Amino acid sequence: MELLNRINNILEKPIKIKPKNLFFRLFTSKNVTISLFNTIQSDKPLSDHTILHETQHYIDRCTKVDGIYKSNFLTQIWWYFKYTTPQILSLISLLSILSIWYSNLFLISLSSLIFLLPLPAFASFRYKIELRGYFWNYLFDVKLDYSKIFSGMLYYGMDDSNSSRHYKMEFDRMLCVNVYKDDDNMKDLFKIYSEYINI
Ligand SMILES: [Zn+2]
Repeated sequence: MELLNRINNILEKPIKIKPKNLFFRLFTSKNVTISLFNTIQSDKPLSDHTILHETQHYIDRCTKVDGIYKSNFLTQIWWYFKYTTPQILSLISLLSILSIWYSNLFLISLSSLIFLLPLPAFASFRYKIELRGYFWNYLFDVKLDYSKIFSGMLYYGMDDSNSSRHYKMEFDRMLCVNVYKDDDNMKDLFKIYSEYINI
């Protein structure tokens, strides 16, 4: 909990940890952790790297004002839109209900159902978002097969099967470029992490 207290010091809305709600329990496996607005929902005790992973997602949905991360409705919605792209675009097919009585245009909107397929080439937003999350697992030296995770169905085939070496290079690059130079969100979280592990 100490880590979470430190994290909450830079958040306007503290992160709450809750058991998964019924919806997520029905549609996900027991081992999957979900973050929704400022809650982390999980059915198992959370490790430090999972807390940092989910916090990264959360602060990426916030706006930083005077050093404090504030929840911003529009930024949250935009993040969820990007995360669910391209599958979210299949909702265009609902327009076919409106046009079905008037013209054959409904066939065009119906064709957007194609976005329901796992389409790695168009899921680059989700890929980049999760790369930022899994950076923390990598930092804690958690043994994961990233090439399997990123190409598997947990993230709906968001990446073609890259080699494990590819991910190691990506994470090392993020450590150098994002954490030490360019990225405020990652720098702030890294500061908390390094102070925490130095206890
Ligand atoms: Zn994630």
